[in-house]
Amino acid sequence: MSSEEHPKPTNFIRQIIEADIRAGKNDGRVATRFPPEPNGFLHIGHAKSICLNFGIAEDYHGTCNLRFDDTNPHKENAEFVEAIQRDVRWLGYDWGERLYYASDYFEKLYDYAVQLIKKGKAYVCDLSAEEIRAYRGTLTEPGKDSPFRNRSIEENLDLFARMRQGEFQDGEKVLRARIDMASPNINMRDPTIYRIRHGVVHHQTGEEWCIYPMYDFTHCLSDSIEGITHSLCTLEFEDHRPLYDWYLNELETPCHPQQIEFSRLVLEHTITSKRKLTELVEGGYVEGWDDPRMPTIAGMRRRGYTPAAIRDFCDRIGVTKSDNFVEMAVLENCVREDLNIHAPRRMAVLHPLKVVITNYPEGRQEKLTAPNHPQDESMGSRQLTFSREIYIEQADFREEAPKKFKRLVSGGEVRLRNAYVIRCDEVIKDVEGEVIELRCSYDPATLGANPEGRKVKGVIHWVSASDAINAEIRLYDRLFNHPNPDKAKEGKDYRDYLNPDSLRTLTHCFVEANLAGARPGEQFQFEREGYFCLDSEHLAGDRPVFNRIVSLRDSWAKIEKKGGK
Ligand code: ATP
Ligand code: MG
Repeated sequence: MSSEEHPKPTNFIRQIIEADIRAGKNDGRVATRFPPEPNGFLHIGHAKSICLNFGIAEDYHGTCNLRFDDTNPHKENAEFVEAIQRDVRWLGYDWGERLYYASDYFEKLYDYAVQLIKKGKAYVCDLSAEEIRAYRGTLTEPGKDSPFRNRSIEENLDLFARMRQGEFQDGEKVLRARIDMASPNINMRDPTIYRIRHGVVHHQTGEEWCIYPMYDFTHCLSDSIEGITHSLCTLEFEDHRPLYDWYLNELETPCHPQQIEFSRLVLEHTITSKRKLTELVEGGYVEGWDDPRMPTIAGMRRRGYTPAAIRDFCDRIGVTKSDNFVEMAVLENCVREDLNIHAPRRMAVLHPLKVVITNYPEGRQEKLTAPNHPQDESMGSRQLTFSREIYIEQADFREEAPKKFKRLVSGGEVRLRNAYVIRCDEVIKDVEGEVIELRCSYDPATLGANPEGRKVKGVIHWVSASDAINAEIRLYDRLFNHPNPDKAKEGKDYRDYLNPDSLRTLTHCFVEANLAGARPGEQFQFEREGYFCLDSEHLAGDRPVFNRIVSLRDSWAKIEKKGGK
């Protein structure tokens, strides 16, 4: 996909890059990276960053590296490393040979730290974590120098080497940058560069190291080692930029990438904090990282969202420095628009009501042709079985109903989608008065069109009882019933806003026989009901499971409007 065919909406970062190219900066080269920490699955916020970084590389004939920021081994693991690669690829991006780990650079980073010590710009500090915090000062008060700040270079080199050798316990010593304890920017008050971590097995480097570099030190140097030109990150790193630049200015590094910050995506009715998502998974609030209600890429994939819809969403929300609160409806609309074009139509009855067509001969079956898409003939057609017994949706029948009700009523007529007009002659109820069956008659002259002078406005969907497949249908809804669960009120927790109806399971559904060949993940529009896909996890047993991807219309808009009045 080249930029000429499909120009992406511009944004301030693209404008900076275009100006840099015009000015010949970096010899006109553009190199970005996506740097996830493998401590959880990727979510919709990461998708924004992925689309931005990989999209820019694509459009400016540059490169984008996938780099794991793996400096915190006790929270990271190989399962997350794999999941992240799967998800980036699924979104449609390819890093080619450019897969890196910050841990690839541990030896180089160690050497850089030694360089800093030799310049008198780093020292080994024996203060405890608590003391370091206390010495750091506050936003309004300067910090205090550590008593170890003036150790000699020789002593620092010796102690740092012994830290690496494992002579000291966790927390006994750290290596710190020697910058300015009175800096108005707290990040510049002698930040930690290395800490000691014994007894953790790193997913890439095993037990080779017992000291681990901090994020700020690692990140800028990894960017430089990889020849990144534009290091794009979220706004919380704005205050870290002076430190990013300080390390690169003090050290002899291959290049000095430019850090540019943009605002994080905050999607309403969900959360994108990895810590909280981990809590939902570990606490059993959801089925796992790929639970179809999760805002993770794996969850959205299993739910049936398409990569194209997510990329379209990322284009639409834009990239700026101001708050990026986005309604869930924006994402759902992107999904609907994509599926409306690409999803074949099928019929499924979620709450079945049996209908016997009394004037249709017993044992007879006929095949009717139905288009796969009402507007797109290229999608072809399928055969539906019509027989004496069919199922319709319970909600499509009422014994008595106002004129507005355009579906089936006692004594009334309705058209069966892609088939005949039927009339309801008799209603059969159980002892409790529940309607359990309808006796109807069909008019053979109504296949495909109303005969002249006949007005039948309502159209309902149906499936043939003779060959419909019994299916389980899972109706997914928003995970949280509060638009901003992260901003929980005093005394409340984001988990208090979990939507108790985020999953409703219907076990007695019938879907048309053509769905027997559906592939896991394949999307369909169930006419009049919404978009659904065959779940990829629950294929065991004789009943297929379909996930509702999204309803046909935004039902929350109505509720929220009403609630707002
Ligand atoms: P945590 O929640 O643990 O702080 P994180 O969400 O920042 O982590 P990383 O794995 O460090 O997770 O993120 C990788 C990249 O994705 C970073 O560049 C980060 O800025 C970006 N990113 C993360 N969340 C969002 C978001 N909501 N919107 C846009 N970009 C994001
Ligand atoms: Mg982070």
